[in-house]
Amino acid sequence: NRRAAANSIVRPDFKFEDLGIGGLDKEFSDIFRRAFASRILPPGLAEKMNIQHVRGILLYGPPGTGKTLIARQIGKMLNAREPKVINGPEVLNKYVGQSEENIRKLFADAEKEQKEKGDESGLHIIIFDELDAVCKQRGSGAGGGTGVGDSVVNQLLSKLDGVEQLNNILLIGMTNRKDMIDEALLRSGRLEVHMEISLPDEYGRQQILKIHTSKMRENGKLASDVDLADLAKRTRNFSGAEIQGLIKSASSFALQRHIKGGTVAALKDDVVNMQIRMADFESALL
Ligand code: ATP
Repeated sequence: NRRAAANSIVRPDFKFEDLGIGGLDKEFSDIFRRAFASRILPPGLAEKMNIQHVRGILLYGPPGTGKTLIARQIGKMLNAREPKVINGPEVLNKYVGQSEENIRKLFADAEKEQKEKGDESGLHIIIFDELDAVCKQRGSGAGGGTGVGDSVVNQLLSKLDGVEQLNNILLIGMTNRKDMIDEALLRSGRLEVHMEISLPDEYGRQQILKIHTSKMRENGKLASDVDLADLAKRTRNFSGAEIQGLIKSASSFALQRHIKGGTVAALKDDVVNMQIRMADFESALL
């Protein structure tokens, strides 16, 4: 039976803390409840209750806030295939004239497996980044009059509505501009679960700082005066990606501080003992 196909098994070893996602625990569990609960029901139950699996979700919010990270970790948690990633502008620019074919290919593996294995078919995730890029042009005749956006959206719609009832597919659309997404894509049975991923709050920033400095701490490269709680306070409006940038920048200040010139051998000694201090973060924050 097609309906109950692709029940995923959540990895029993799954723990949110292991996913390396800072501060989005509420969003993550919300997505899970709304989009995946049906996939972990005992076999046959979803069908008896007339529940259809969610086939698409939309993650929206500012750049660098962890949307791609969440999408990838969802896949790992659900034991899905390595996600296929596609990017809106790339589809428009690179595949003019063959965009429909390109979308068709994205779905082909999942279709094939569903046909061959039915209920035993594994979950296939497609991550569609910058989805707004293909929507902007729908019906507007923009984009040099190529109409590529139109055909990409139409092809996506037809795949999601497909008679084949692709229950082994999960399409994760991502955008910074939810208002630009074609309404037709957001309806029930399509990208029906919507989740905003906002800039991290102070708690989230501290978690992100902790995640991205954990290796340095383990290796003894993070000096004990580095105060992550204080840095979290002082990085208001930073995205996760910007926090990562701050840490990188602090590391290079530390390196420069340790290079005193001289021979290569001396440099080696300098660097082996280097540590990133709060002062390096101070320099990076300036
Ligand atoms: P875009 O809209 O630009 O595609 P995005 O929201 O998909 O951005 P990601 O690509 O997931 O952002 O984030 C970029 C990088 O920033 C990640 O690879 C990760 O290292 C870091 N990052 C962002 N948010 C978080 C977070 N909440 N926890 C841990 N790392 C994060």
